[in-house]
This record gives sequence, structure tokens and C-alpha cells, in this order.
Amino acid sequence: MSKMNKQIVLKSRPEGEPTEDNFGVVETPIPTPGDGQILVKVIYMSLDPYMRGRMSAAKSYSASAEIDKPMLGGGVGVVEQSNNNNFAVGDYVVCATGWQSYCLSDGTGVLKIDPDNAPISTGVGVLGMPGLTAYYGLLKIGQPKAGETVVVAAASGAVGSVVGQIAKIKGCRAVGIAGSAEKCAFVVDELGFDACLNYKAPDFKEELAAACPDGIDVYFENVGGDVFEAVLPLFNDDARVPLCGLISQYNATELPTGTNMLPALMRDMLTKRILIQGFIISFHFDLLPQFLKDVGGWITSGELKYREDIVEGIENAPEAFMGLLKGKNFGKLLVRVAEDPTRN
Ligand code: NDP
Repeated sequence: MSKMNKQIVLKSRPEGEPTEDNFGVVETPIPTPGDGQILVKVIYMSLDPYMRGRMSAAKSYSASAEIDKPMLGGGVGVVEQSNNNNFAVGDYVVCATGWQSYCLSDGTGVLKIDPDNAPISTGVGVLGMPGLTAYYGLLKIGQPKAGETVVVAAASGAVGSVVGQIAKIKGCRAVGIAGSAEKCAFVVDELGFDACLNYKAPDFKEELAAACPDGIDVYFENVGGDVFEAVLPLFNDDARVPLCGLISQYNATELPTGTNMLPALMRDMLTKRILIQGFIISFHFDLLPQFLKDVGGWITSGELKYREDIVEGIENAPEAFMGLLKGKNFGKLLVRVAEDPTRN
């Protein structure tokens, strides 16, 4: 039987939490590259929180996935056929693969990676988009100074784990927030943060305040909601908040009821001169060379560690993705679509 292209397509748009019904598995013939195109065999598919937004038809900074078309996303693969002089058969690349086992590309935005430098999976993790997000958000917006306190939510994840470790490298006190005792222990014991608090613990607010005796100078926001409300009273004057993500809100179908925190937020922003700056990393890829030099160097020197959570088989991508939105992943979430010939 000839090989086929297995695809995970968007069958319907979720209302609230995505379910299995929103996804479908189809098999189509492996496409043939045209003039200037390459055929990439996908090895790792990256699963990222932003994909929840792509499932929605709401207007955003990027186009939505189309119904009955593969889910959108990035991945790492190997060039199997090439009609493009910039790429040879056997090159390892990071590109917009979509949720499928093969993809075509004209080479636009395709990045070659060297398996001798780092495991190829890191091309969509610590040395890829999530790592760059941490690097840009913390250093360009957060502007951390030695001795300051940097707090980051989703601290064991792809972005948060890098934020706290860079904060330590820059001489800051790094405080993580994560969703389980096991994740918190990893963040402190393995990644070297000064403290990590479980936001699901009943006395989380008091513990966070105790872990930040000098207040908070930089809060790298990944989750929003209740966690932000716990952070808000602890801000120092001139605090900076790189607003990276709001994962606690991604499945929300309406605004939360209860106390309206907006007046308190506005008052604190004014009186404490707090900077809150949203950013979308795809507008900052120009920083990639500097990022690769710095973060690549810190990985080589052992100053920066990373953890991957690899799920086997493309058909398991929907379940893994739904788990990501509930904190079931532990580290950068990837799906191994095909054997990785560079890893044994
Ligand atoms: P992670 O690897 O950190 O995985 C997501 C984590 O979010 C989960 O493991 C879980 O950790 C946490 N989480 C899930 N649901 C909730 C919830 N309801 N409340 C609190 N925490 C929750 O993902 P990434 O590192 O890839 O992404 C982190 C954030 O960064 C996301 O918000 C994402 O959208 C954003 N991002 C933004 C980019 C940009 O350009 N602005 C680019 C890349 C990412 P736990 O168990 O600790 O709760």
C-alpha cells in the first residue's frame, strides 16, 4: 500500500472547550511539489495554545483554520523532495507544516536547522517560537534589572520555563506560578527558580506575597484571570508586564461575572506607572539571530534547561491539544509524527 498524507482537519468550530468532535482524521495522497516547491515529511508537530484562536472564526492577528482543512501550526521535518535551489533532500527544516504528516512549501519562512547543534525538536521549542517569545517579551518589554523580582505564570511550560531562567541569568529573583506541586518542584529543583507557587492551592495569594517580599517588578503574563488578580496588589512602582498570553480565557464564551477589576487595574497602572505591553512574537522574528546566539549559548553552557512532553502519533494530537488547555502537558508539547532519525 502506498504511503498517504494523514491530516487532522478542523471539522467544526468549538463553543467553549474543544472536543473530539471538532476534529477529523483524513488521509489524502502525498502531494507532489511543483516548481520552486519542497515536500517536507513532518517529524514533530508543535502544539501551542494559540491554536485555540485559529479554531475560531473571530477576527484576530492571523487567519483562522478553515473547516475540513488541516489545523494550522508549525513543525519540524525533513525535505523529501526539492524543486527549490535553497533546499536539498535531507535538510531538516522548521516550517508551517499544519497538522499533517507531509506538507508542501515554496520555502517562504522555512528555516533550516542543524541536527548537530541541538535536537531538531528544539526548533519549535526552546530554540524556536516559544523560546523567542520568552526572550523577546522578558528582555525587550520586561527590561529586567539585577536584583529585581520577576514573576511568570505557566512557569513549567515552553515559554514560562525560559522566562524564569533568563531572569536568573540576568541576576533577578525568579518566582514561578504553576498548576501542580510536581510542576512547582521541577521549576525550583531543575530550572533553578527561587520559588514556585501552585495557583490551585487555597492560600496561593498569601504564598505569592510571601515569595515576593520586595514586591513584583516584572510580571510575565501567560494566563490572566485569577492569577493576574493575585499578582495585581504586589506590583512595585514602574513595574513592567509583558502581556504574552491569557490561556485561562481561551475557552471562555463570555466575560466573567463578579467584581469588575478594571477600575483597580487602571488606578494601579496610573499611580504606580505600570507598563502593560501586549506583543505577538511573529512580528519580532528579526530578533532570531541574536536569540539563537544567546539562548543556544546558555543551553550549551548548561545555564538554561528545557523539558519536552512528546506525544506519539498524529492521531493523538487533538486529545493532547485539549489537554494543553487544561495543563495536562508538562513541558513543551510536541507530537512525534514520524521517527526522528537524529535521535536514538
Ligand atoms: P505551555 O507549555 O505553558 O502550556 C500551557 C500551560 O498553561 C499549561 O500547561 C498550564 O500550566 C497553563 N494553563 C492552562 N490552562 C490554564 C488556566 N485555566 N489557568 C492557568 N494556567 C493554565 O504553553 P506555552 O508556553 O506555549 O504558552 C504559554 C502562554 O504564552 C500561552 O498563553 C500562549 O498563548 C502564550 N504565547 C504567546 C505568544 C505571543 O506571541 N504573544 C507566543 C507563544 C505563546 P499549569 O498546569 O501550570 O496551569
